Amino acid sequence: MDLDKFAQHIEEVRQRQDILNQHAGESFFPQQDLLTQALEELQTSLEELHVAEEELLAQNEELALAYGLLEKERQRYLELFDFAPDGYLVTDTNGKIIQANHAATNLLKVAKKFLQGKVLSSYIPEEERRSFRQQLLNLHNMERIQDWEISLQPRHGNKFYCSTSIITVYDSEGNPTSWRWLLRDITARKRAEEQLRAIQIQNFQLQEAARIKSQFLSVMSHELRTPMNAILGFSQLMLRHYYHMLAPEIRTMVERIINSGKQLLALIENILDFSSLETGRAELRLQEFNLVELVTTITEELRFLAVQKNLTLAIHTNIQNPNIVTDRDLVRQVLVNLLDNAIKFTETGGVFVELQQLGQDQLTVMVRDTGIGIPEAELKNIFQEFWQLNQSTTRKHGGTGLGLAIVNKLVHLMNGTITVESRLSEGSTFRIVLPRRVGNGE
Ligand code: ADP
Repeated sequence: MDLDKFAQHIEEVRQRQDILNQHAGESFFPQQDLLTQALEELQTSLEELHVAEEELLAQNEELALAYGLLEKERQRYLELFDFAPDGYLVTDTNGKIIQANHAATNLLKVAKKFLQGKVLSSYIPEEERRSFRQQLLNLHNMERIQDWEISLQPRHGNKFYCSTSIITVYDSEGNPTSWRWLLRDITARKRAEEQLRAIQIQNFQLQEAARIKSQFLSVMSHELRTPMNAILGFSQLMLRHYYHMLAPEIRTMVERIINSGKQLLALIENILDFSSLETGRAELRLQEFNLVELVTTITEELRFLAVQKNLTLAIHTNIQNPNIVTDRDLVRQVLVNLLDNAIKFTETGGVFVELQQLGQDQLTVMVRDTGIGIPEAELKNIFQEFWQLNQSTTRKHGGTGLGLAIVNKLVHLMNGTITVESRLSEGSTFRIVLPRRVGNGE
């Protein structure tokens, strides 16, 4: 409504009324009363018109205010659109670009003015264009597409992966008029996914290789054990039955065969143990027993080794309740291994076993020696399979480098932990912490 015209109109009516008022005062027509009444009505109408004018003016001001706010809001949305971190495009329903925000122009590496009017498919790599167009045709029957992964090829620069979501915009009659596109660069994500896939494949291959290795070791060990037992058995028999008939040098030779055979058998047993642990076949046979008693028995069994080398072998314990529920055979295997190593790698001094209680729920066994020690840098490798220190002592003693790897696995199987401290030429301490009670299914 044109308010000025309306005001002018009122003014004209008011002027005419004034004229009429003057004429009414001057004439003596009999219809004077009627005229006066008409004039009064006119006056009332005029006043009402004035009020209407005031209201219109007020409404007009409100409208102007609302329009200003709307404009501000529109500006804000334009800014949001333009500076959004993701690319936004508006295309017609043929895919021709009508509007593009800052991020979209950055993604496609084209200035805004050159982007407008181009078809989006011209930024799709040649080989994917057909399927892209096909999908656009499908879009005519859909309201939206969510997270459609496409590749985009800017005029200059590398092709990149993009996750696209599209919404169809309709006019008041429900006809589609345009599409709104959201473009998100997902190259980094895609690359990470590809790397993850490559790692998964590699991981699978490694697992498979480890499985085949363990299987091979286990089969080989079985195959080796049978003839080894025969060699050992017969040479022992030979020594026992024909001892007096054998010349001393032949006896020595047979003794060597027996010793080497025993070493080889121990080695085969180790490999067999390790491969069965690797394939996860080991199960705990739980029972309650006295740990101090077990440690004492083992120490006594191995005392002859320490005596041969003039080493002290002592146990120290201050456990009030030495009972433990775990796998007795595994604890024995672990301790025999640690004590055997401690004696093997100690030339002077001794080996000391210490038992302690760690709170209510854990027991600690420490095997300390005053032997050759392990260099600090090597400590981290000590529990790895087939690892040995390249020292003359190690070479002298042979072994497979499997003992501690097995010990480590067994201790973990019993939900325990093993740590080592060592100083070169001063000695080593292996410390095992075992839970007092290994629960079922733990
Ligand atoms: P093996 O004794 O059969 O070679 P282990 O796994 O038992 O295999 O030991 C691996 C290596 O760790 C040994 O060859 C030795 O170099 C080192 N080692 C183990 N125990 C001790 C110890 N108590 N003192 C010094 N070195 C040790």
